[in-house]
Amino acid sequence: MSILQRSLIAKIFLVSFLSVHVPLIALVVYLLTGLDTGPVSIFTLILVATVVGTGVCLLVMWRFIRPLQHLAAALQKYPDDKCVLKLHAPGKDEIAVVTDATKSILVQLEELTKKLKHQATTDFLTGLGNRRSLTEQVPGLQSRAQRAGEPLSMVLFDLDNFKMINDDYGHDVGDNVLMIVGEIVKDSLRPYDLASRIGGEEFCIILPRTSGEAALKIAERLRAAFQECYLEPLPKGRITCSFGVVQAEADERLQQLLRRADAALYRAKETGRNRVIGAFADKSQ
Ligand code: GH3
Ligand code: MG
Ligand code: MG
Repeated sequence: MSILQRSLIAKIFLVSFLSVHVPLIALVVYLLTGLDTGPVSIFTLILVATVVGTGVCLLVMWRFIRPLQHLAAALQKYPDDKCVLKLHAPGKDEIAVVTDATKSILVQLEELTKKLKHQATTDFLTGLGNRRSLTEQVPGLQSRAQRAGEPLSMVLFDLDNFKMINDDYGHDVGDNVLMIVGEIVKDSLRPYDLASRIGGEEFCIILPRTSGEAALKIAERLRAAFQECYLEPLPKGRITCSFGVVQAEADERLQQLLRRADAALYRAKETGRNRVIGAFADKSQ
């Protein structure tokens, strides 16, 4: 690759040098032609050659610098439009190198941000959301439900006697139980439902467009699916969960929703575990 392709400075030097010498070159060529050498002719020739040389020089410089203007404009807009496609400079000079490098850094930054955001909102064991994603997403889901006049329900559940599974079979088996529970939840839900592992062995599912009655049925299906599932070396039916189900009231905050669901879950534990309790009676209290 020639130095002129790689170096903006070399291109600027060359064009400046040639432009400065346009009057001299014009004078030499004019004298060689043997035309009138009077002072007026020579002065006119020098004036025209100087104007032409300066004009061509400015035009070429502007073309050289234009990609830098594009880069500056694209970078200024980047925080708002997040568009890296606009970062493009033709050629291979320093401006093109800086543009390509900036583009590549921004692409890497975007990927890293996406990855970190995913890690920060995902439970690594089950692949479900975590408490943070629940906290972040529920207000949006609630206001959407309210705007559309649709119900929204919560299912909170907790594995029964899970500590005993760890104690009797080891922590790894306990982890496998959590993973299989996560898989069953993922397989059972609709794409717009939001499932999170919000504690050690406690899970929360937000069901948009779902009444409390419908949520009870979904929870009951999950309860049966957990009980049915078989995971070595546990005996069949060992994996069970207790459920608390509530339907959100207008403007009810997540904390309040969780409190009501937790009260129902507590009753499910108290009354023998492996059951679903709805907290709808609480609404009228
Ligand atoms: P209950 O039916 O009343 O809910 O009893 P429980 O034994 O399930 O509840 P408890 O709160 O007594 O015990 C929960 C256990 O969950 C204790 C803790 O070691 C275990 N645990 C929490 N997080 C994890 C995890 O990530 N992996 C494993 N294997 N165990 C965990
Ligand atoms: Mg438990
Ligand atoms: Mg618990």
